[in-house]
Amino acid sequence: MNAPIAIIGTGIAGLSAAQALHAAGRDIELFDKSRGSGGRMASKRSDAGSLDLGAQYFTARDRRFVEAVQQWQARGWVAEWQPSLYNAQDGQLSASPDEQVRWVGCPRMSAITRAMLGALPVKFSCRITEVFRGDRYWSLLDAEGNSHGPYSHVIVATPAPQASALLAAAPKLAGAAASVIMDPTWAVALGFDSHLDTRVEGCFVQDSPLDWLARNPSKPGRDTHLDTWVLHASSVWSRQNLDLPKEAVIEQLHGAFAELIGCAVPPPSFTLAHRWLYARPAQAHQWGALADADLGLYACGDWCLSGRVEGAWLSGQDAARRLLEHLQ
Ligand code: FAD
Ligand code: NAD
Repeated sequence: MNAPIAIIGTGIAGLSAAQALHAAGRDIELFDKSRGSGGRMASKRSDAGSLDLGAQYFTARDRRFVEAVQQWQARGWVAEWQPSLYNAQDGQLSASPDEQVRWVGCPRMSAITRAMLGALPVKFSCRITEVFRGDRYWSLLDAEGNSHGPYSHVIVATPAPQASALLAAAPKLAGAAASVIMDPTWAVALGFDSHLDTRVEGCFVQDSPLDWLARNPSKPGRDTHLDTWVLHASSVWSRQNLDLPKEAVIEQLHGAFAELIGCAVPPPSFTLAHRWLYARPAQAHQWGALADADLGLYACGDWCLSGRVEGAWLSGQDAARRLLEHLQ
């Protein structure tokens, strides 16, 4: 029997591994607890249009990722975002232009993972709770008690705190995942009926509850009927206010935004808050991916490298490469 490979997680890491394995002629099956793909690169469809609440843009520095992004650009999945960039320190806003190329999914961040997924077989709204091995093959158990399998190999492509339980069959891998601390981020979107009188389109922020803000319609292909802004709180503020009700988070981050943006800020006609519990690894690692090749269990994700889109993609490539090498 030629059993397929199971991949848990349809963020950019899981899909990067899926594409590499599919290209090598392997059968795969993907699972995600959410209703769609993208994970932290997902975009929220709302009355104010699609909003990138997680990853805001990404940079490409590794040659392999640069090549992948060039292909995505040729297919129209991504475009360059050239925001008018600012920096805010001690409440002082100053223009902070640079030469860095920054990419975004088009017309929304989630377009990338949606296109990568294509027609690959996937089960959404399926939270995997257990990964276990019989004599030869792997099986998965989901939160509703259904079992899935058999599989020849399993790749766990979830954030580290969710991966450690799924890696229990390989205690070394589970231990490594359990050692990774991931910091939270509160994200708030505000929509204004009239455009705010500012040139700011993206701003790195220090010494504030906020650490980043972006004008969503300044990205290519976005809905422009409202002037929508995405605000990210710092890791410190997000952890201190982890259980604050959403209304209070919106009020406080709206207040911080109004204080630093340097123009009149009317009451927003649209607001939304989202808490990313496992937003970014507190530290970078050099693991590439984790593997117990003899067992056939692998783990990948941004937490194996850097807490960036590029790190997640590279980690997925590494998991697929190691799995394919072991098959030869
Ligand atoms: P994820 O995207 O988290 O994917 C994991 C998937 O696994 C999810 O879809 C989840 O639903 C699924 N899953 C989890 N548990 C289970 C389970 N038990 N069963 C089934 N499915 C499961 N990076 C940048 O490069 N630039 C940025 O500007 C940037 N900004 C960011 C801002 C925020 C607020 C956040 C949260 C992240 C940001 N990042 C940014 C980081 C970037 O989004 C991540 O590094 C990258 O998307 C991680 O991809 P991943 O595939 O490793 O994990
Ligand atoms: P990048 O090179 O644009 O930014 C890296 C860092 O350099 C920024 O965080 C900022 O501190 C600084 N910087 C860059 N350009 C600047 C400018 N023009 N003026 C002032 N400061 C500038 O992109 P990258 O290396 O790909 O990093 C990805 C971004 O994703 C980072 O900003 C990071 O904070 C963010 N991120 C956020 C989360 C979250 O949960 N909020 C998670 C992962 C990554």
